[in-house]
Amino acid sequence: MKTHFNGGKNMQNILKQITRTSLYALCLMIIVFPAYAQEAPQLNVVNVTENITVIEGMSNTVILTGKDGIFMIDTQAPELIDPVITKIAEISSHPIRFIANTHYHFDHAGGNEKAANTGAVIIAHENVRKRMSTEQRMDTLNMTTPPASTAALPAVTFSKDVTFYINGEEARVFHIGAGHTDGDAIVHFRKANVIHLGDLYFNGLYPYIGIEAGGSINSMIQAGNTVLGMIDDATRIIPGHGPIAGKAEYAEYLEMLTGVRDAIRRQIDAGKSLKEVIAIKPLQAFDAKWGKGLFTSDQFAELVYTDLSRK
Ligand SMILES: [Zn+2]
Repeated sequence: MKTHFNGGKNMQNILKQITRTSLYALCLMIIVFPAYAQEAPQLNVVNVTENITVIEGMSNTVILTGKDGIFMIDTQAPELIDPVITKIAEISSHPIRFIANTHYHFDHAGGNEKAANTGAVIIAHENVRKRMSTEQRMDTLNMTTPPASTAALPAVTFSKDVTFYINGEEARVFHIGAGHTDGDAIVHFRKANVIHLGDLYFNGLYPYIGIEAGGSINSMIQAGNTVLGMIDDATRIIPGHGPIAGKAEYAEYLEMLTGVRDAIRRQIDAGKSLKEVIAIKPLQAFDAKWGKGLFTSDQFAELVYTDLSRK
């Protein structure tokens, strides 16, 4: 099932929402979010279980449907939320009742206001509300996002966890410390054995890390190892970006992150400058599998170098 909508207009509008951007950031957006790269981008729908569905757009939105109303995870970018709401209405006749944000980034919480206007209640970690309330800077993407409207802010926040008993499911939304940002939420559908990791997991590509928002490669690895201890070989894992995976694939991603971290750490410990590190292509062993998405090898090496060389 696919939905077509006007990608060009979306691009204009999204740029209006970003007060400063660069050609570099724009290129990154097109690479990461192919929805912007073509005139007629698509929403792809993937059924995970009878009532859990992934809607793939700029990130992976998930809906749990049923007579109690829809429980939704993430609201995409501002200009994708209308087609997403339309798509949801095609899948279920019930209203959206609750929405959990996995973190504050615009491609996950950007549709909050319109989604909330349907009558849904938005829940997120307390740091998501704090960050959405103020201007946020992402130096790596040369991007500044302005404070969100009051209507877009999560109406309910939590510090550790909250569980939804809805549609016969137990959906535990929890924070296990900083990872991709300082406000990450993981959603575990315990009965279905399905888990949404948000941007702790970019499946098949080097990840963006919110190093200006409390995230780091070390905390992504640490959070990931905690997750590994909570899941089993039958668990279906929904990443923030990329296709649905299993435990073995997620473990491989964490091995890549650990390998990259160690490779860059060694160079920093040897006193190498960023330029010297980039010149030796430290991530070569990982590039074939992970370097063809959001970040090239050099860009990801720079992001991790910047992260690890911070005082
Ligand atoms: Zn993110």
